[in-house]
Amino acid sequence: MKFKVNQDTCIGCGLCEGTCPAVFHMTDAGVAEAIPDDVPAGEEANAQAALEGCPVGAIEKVEG
Ligand code: SF4
Repeated sequence: MKFKVNQDTCIGCGLCEGTCPAVFHMTDAGVAEAIPDDVPAGEEANAQAALEGCPVGAIEKVEG
């Protein structure tokens, strides 16, 4: 399972990085980015929490 950030929607609040830094980080452009790889073992719940907590719904889950 992977996650993806829609950077056109992201408002750069930093919540996802704070919730799941193993998957999300802020870029120099001030928006979030998800790692391109599968979510590390044990981080699925945190990544899902970040998705659900994003105030603008900019995070989507990509199966596979
Ligand atoms: S929680 Fe949503 S709006 Fe906030 S930085 Fe992450 S993707 Fe962007």
